Amino acid sequence: MTIRLLAATTVNRIAAGEVVERPASAIKELVENSIDAGAKRIDIHIRDGGRSYMSVADDGSGMTPDELSLCVERHATSKLPDEDLQNIQTLGFRGEALPSIGSIARMTLTSREEGSDAAWAMTIEGGAKSDPAPAARPAGTTIEVRDLFFATPARLKFLKTERTETGHAVDVIKRLAMAHPEIHFSLMDGERSLLKLGAAQGDLLDARLERVGAILGGAFAENALAVDAAREGIHLTGYIGLPTLNRGNAALQFLFVNGRPVRDRLLFGAVRGAYRDFLAHDRHPLMALFIKMPPELVDINVHPAKTEVRFRDPGLVRGLIVSALKHALAGAGHRASTTVSNDAMGALRAPGNFAGSPYRRGGGGSISTGLAETARTYHAPLSELDGQPTARVEAMDEPQMAAGDWPLGVARAQVHETYIVAQTDDGIVIVDQHAAHERLVYEDMKKALAANGASRQGLLIPEVVELDEAAAERVAAHASQLLEMGLNVEAFGAGAVVVRETPALLGEVNVQDLIRNLADDLAELGEALSFEDRLADISATMACHGSVRAGRRLGAEEMNALLRRMEITPNSGQCNHGRPTYVELKLADIEKLFGRR
Ligand code: ADP
Ligand code: MG
Repeated sequence: MTIRLLAATTVNRIAAGEVVERPASAIKELVENSIDAGAKRIDIHIRDGGRSYMSVADDGSGMTPDELSLCVERHATSKLPDEDLQNIQTLGFRGEALPSIGSIARMTLTSREEGSDAAWAMTIEGGAKSDPAPAARPAGTTIEVRDLFFATPARLKFLKTERTETGHAVDVIKRLAMAHPEIHFSLMDGERSLLKLGAAQGDLLDARLERVGAILGGAFAENALAVDAAREGIHLTGYIGLPTLNRGNAALQFLFVNGRPVRDRLLFGAVRGAYRDFLAHDRHPLMALFIKMPPELVDINVHPAKTEVRFRDPGLVRGLIVSALKHALAGAGHRASTTVSNDAMGALRAPGNFAGSPYRRGGGGSISTGLAETARTYHAPLSELDGQPTARVEAMDEPQMAAGDWPLGVARAQVHETYIVAQTDDGIVIVDQHAAHERLVYEDMKKALAANGASRQGLLIPEVVELDEAAAERVAAHASQLLEMGLNVEAFGAGAVVVRETPALLGEVNVQDLIRNLADDLAELGEALSFEDRLADISATMACHGSVRAGRRLGAEEMNALLRRMEITPNSGQCNHGRPTYVELKLADIEKLFGRR
């Protein structure tokens, strides 16, 4: 057996496997180089998902012929001036991307240094490079890559369909573009334009909102809350969406650290913590958050693809994100996203077709079945409450107050014993009485909890609730926490609990239902969640039971009182599950419906 050094090209190929996992990773490296080169404009072309062809052209600093020849050598870099990995100011720093790509593909580099009057080109194919030769192009650099992985055919097998690979490429560019609104980006697939983002104008925050809006959609820009907070040298800015603008996965949550897009589990946990009160478990808000911190407080050199970071003090970063998000959300007051009324308008315009609304009842569509189920039970009128035809409209007397005084207007009617219709200065507001009341009770409950325990109300006769044994045990095991929330419950033999007091906030409740739901909750949540998270979930369940159910007749005073409380209660624009509590239709929109405009 002879021991030998691996050929440089072999070493490069191994490394390339780490850096260049798929076409999108090569595109990412090339675009990062353009950003590091100070480009103001970056144009990207791909074919076949980037597999047969990709090119990245920029108007950055460019390279001399010597630099051109050197840049494809392993560990050749113009960055990291003091070789200090604790202090990385650029996106690149390893000097590995170009040699890696050059070793597994056919690459052509054409560059003209800023201020020089000549351009040069060279090629590198499977690691073999040519000498630079004169070429033509304005200042900047174009790098073309053909037949990615031709030298490592095994890799090709792992590639997904063209569509999937194209999707990854788009995602990579979107992330980098979000972090750099001042740069013009375009992405073409053959003749087809996939992205075109003009350089955003204005100061950084305005430019960012413009760019983030261009990528996440106009609805996001309209319904975004600004975030701006700092703690111990770490500065967090960005935009987060109102809870009512939510998705079934977290794909539209973006985190940037010192201008670098990163994926970090920490973000998911922090977002969940901050939105816990506003969203069901399976719904996710949209956001783009930017952290600026001294480079020595974060380690970027964790993973070859540089998409993961390690914070020196993750608890500090998490705390900063949670509190900044909570603060921003608290400031939103009773605001619900405009998408809600847009959805309503869409539904009104197309009678009988509610497919466009994420809040329609029943399963399927854009809201998960579980949530739809929950929603349906809330909306089901309680049959025992009345036998009246449900289409009745309870018309109110002329309101004493002027509508203009109140953002949510003056109650005019209750329809179907479920919705309050209020008149505002310039439109109408429709409130889902159950969802709204549930939110109010929940907020009260949180306040009471924070003020050291909710007050209790004794039952005339203690109520025994029979459950299966495990469920009864689970409820009994949480007795002390539940007591703090105003629910006095204890074990009652095997398979039953006895309830002596209920939270005063809830008013009269169906004890049997409440305990069964709590038992389900506790089973579902398990021990995986922190105590705080569980507490929030339990309060939400309780709030739901104490709420004015759909199907209860309300008087004018009750309705107006509900509206007034909504106006002053934080977060009252959505129920505990992220559904809106009210919809506002402007007169102008109503007029459009009737063709008056
Ligand atoms: P790194 O980015 O880690 O330095 P790369 O292999 O990606 O390593 O690039 C090597 C060097 O090539 C860079 O440090 C830079 O000097 C030069 N370079 C690469 N792309 C460009 C570009 N688009 N414009 C100017 N210089 C570039
Ligand atoms: Mg690089």
